[in-house]
Amino acid sequence: MTSRLCRRAAILSLALATASVLALAPPVRQQEIEQCLPGEISTWPDGRDRPAAGGQLALVYRHAGAPAGLDEAVVLGTVQRAVQAWSGCGVPGQVVSEDAAVLYPGSLVVVQWQEAGSRGNFGLANLAQRTLSLGPGAFQLLAARNPRHPAQQTLQMVISHELGHFYGLMAHSRRCVDVMSYYDNGRGEVCSTRDGGSYKAVTEYRALLPTACDIVRCRAVNPPR
Ligand SMILES: [Zn+2]
Repeated sequence: MTSRLCRRAAILSLALATASVLALAPPVRQQEIEQCLPGEISTWPDGRDRPAAGGQLALVYRHAGAPAGLDEAVVLGTVQRAVQAWSGCGVPGQVVSEDAAVLYPGSLVVVQWQEAGSRGNFGLANLAQRTLSLGPGAFQLLAARNPRHPAQQTLQMVISHELGHFYGLMAHSRRCVDVMSYYDNGRGEVCSTRDGGSYKAVTEYRALLPTACDIVRCRAVNPPR
């Protein structure tokens, strides 16, 4: 069961814990986002990648229960940017209306605000129920503790990450910059950067959208039909 869920959806605890001053990201981070070097892909042993169910993704967004300060158009735009960015994987993906959702049995994912579904995280993918639950409480906490932190960036990262699970990426990346990464396993092992620098050098080292290596992994597990 745990492998079906993103156990590390609390990936953004750093955003809650650190000062609100955003340090400038090192240039190597941008290179890592844009380029996936041979042999660079590395994952934590926490899941096995498999093709996206249904061979396509249709997403419907339900705004009910969203926290104040995140309006519907903003969240919808964030979902659309994530789907657009994952399109490099080759699996067709689109955001559909509530009316059109019935046309996509088996490939529909409901993006919703639900505390229970998110289990206190910013977001949680449930592949069995086909829901991507965003956590109103986590975003309210972020706004309260760190009002200068751009919540929209956190939202983008969370949606991009959780969507990656629906594209079939079940293992988390050990490359800090990948949107599918988590930073440390709680047992002293940490993610890697190309220059050996610490992910802690910036508030969030992880990209907001899938990186070149996220896309390479996604393509590998979803070969063209
Ligand atoms: Zn995850």
